[in-house]
Amino acid sequence: MRPQSDVRWVFELRAEGCSQSEVARRTGVSRSQVRGWLAVGLEAVLHSPMRERAAVTGGENGVLCRASRCPFIASVDAHAYAYLLGQYLGDGMLTPDPRGVFRLRISLCDAYPEIKAECVKAIRDVMPANSVCAIPRRGCTEVVSYSKHWICLIPQHAPGRKHLRPIVLEPWQERIALDRHPRQLLRGLIHSDGCRVINWVMGRDQDGPKRYTYPRYLFSNESDDIRGIFVEACRRVGAECRANRRNSISVARRDSVRLLDAFIGPKS
Ligand SMILES: [Zn+2]
Repeated sequence: MRPQSDVRWVFELRAEGCSQSEVARRTGVSRSQVRGWLAVGLEAVLHSPMRERAAVTGGENGVLCRASRCPFIASVDAHAYAYLLGQYLGDGMLTPDPRGVFRLRISLCDAYPEIKAECVKAIRDVMPANSVCAIPRRGCTEVVSYSKHWICLIPQHAPGRKHLRPIVLEPWQERIALDRHPRQLLRGLIHSDGCRVINWVMGRDQDGPKRYTYPRYLFSNESDDIRGIFVEACRRVGAECRANRRNSISVARRDSVRLLDAFIGPKS
């Protein structure tokens, strides 16, 4: 986590009229982080739950577990983590309890038991010592796991809906999920908020009108930042995509669909 002085520096440079890129270059804070901070304002950043918690557990320079030093990050199963991150960004949430334990909850549609099993396995691989339970709800199942370290592994947690706040990946998350395992991230994202649909168009051949069908993938999420992460993951694997609606990204080119078909698994 960046020290408060860096946060203030970013806002000062911006107030002096620097562009966001220039602020990023001069402070060494990533452009996406600068954009995220400026979007919510100085006070909201300084009083974010993550910073308040750091203050409680020993301050920004304290010795207790904090995201950048968490042993669970250093030893995490990167393959499983990238998938789980995708699932969290799609349909997951964290809830703190008063003892500092966080409940990770991911809602999974009952129509895809393989996806439910894979999500449970990913949680077990990421947090091997803790149990995972599945709670049936109407038409879906909530997969739940408790740990003090979920907040270290998923620092995007904050109060409120994900699309109403910035969702910015930490550099270590980008290294795991975008640099090393973008396919796993895409699988998690599509298994939660994506689908593969068959579209059709009317055309003609020598016998007259003909119906042509073609498959495509859609990823729908209200958060601009999460759709941006999906687009970046597509770019990393070489799949072309484009926004087809305000809140939705489409992968429709035949070679790109084929590319995703090779690793998405259930839903394809
Ligand atoms: Zn930790």
